[in-house]
Amino acid sequence: MLCDFHLHTSFSGDSDTPPVRQIEQAVRLGMACICITDHHDMDVRSACDFNLALPDYFPAMEELRDRYRKNLKVEIGIELGLQNHIIPELNQVALEYPFDFIIGSCHFIDGLDPYYPEYFEGRTESESYRHFFEVTLKRVQNMDCFDALGHLDYVVRYGPNKNQAYHYKDYQDVIDLILKTLIHKGKALECNTGGFHYGLGHPNPCEEILCRYRELGGELITVGSDAHSPEYVGYAFDSAALLLKKCGFSYYTVYHKRIPRFLPL
Ligand SMILES: [Zn+2]
Ligand SMILES: [Zn+2]
Repeated sequence: MLCDFHLHTSFSGDSDTPPVRQIEQAVRLGMACICITDHHDMDVRSACDFNLALPDYFPAMEELRDRYRKNLKVEIGIELGLQNHIIPELNQVALEYPFDFIIGSCHFIDGLDPYYPEYFEGRTESESYRHFFEVTLKRVQNMDCFDALGHLDYVVRYGPNKNQAYHYKDYQDVIDLILKTLIHKGKALECNTGGFHYGLGHPNPCEEILCRYRELGGELITVGSDAHSPEYVGYAFDSAALLLKKCGFSYYTVYHKRIPRFLPL
């Protein structure tokens, strides 16, 4: 099975799965390599504490990496919540710890997480989606502290009608600029299969966007389940591999010490 490069554990404020359970599930599934990417969203107001306890996280992950060395390769990653007003702090985290892989994700927009309905109040669904993409564009233009952009159309998971009336074409102007910026900067696009378990029937981002990234010359695709519990590790990876091949990808990407390596799909 493909290597899962987006996994959460109890180090994330929204998961109570001990890291060993995620690792053992990946071993059972026959994965050669995984990357744990716990949440770190700084300066946000949320019911959950999304500040990662980095001084504890890193040594704990190193110990697990060594303990499971014979079973599979455990890479140490992080999912950083991108926000323009904390660029120096984000750069500092990326430099201070020797991560193998950093996902940059947009979870909070103007202080609001689309996970909660407040984000959608006072504007239409399509205005809410467009605003999310416009803010994402500014962040990818301004930031370099990450290797892959996580779940580009995350907002669609939580819209009032989810992806029923959602089409890439309606946002092509801004989404194409996001993709071109990623390609220009040598950043990967993540294929996040969480969309399947959120009932979208598609990954995040949707196929049209994954194919468009390829069409524009993008080559770096990472694959992650975004699993917060063991049953979702590697979720729908067969579907992800098929649709990526349909888009024209022959390889996906894993990272070690923040250097990409290509593996066949
Ligand atoms: Zn995320
Ligand atoms: Zn995640």
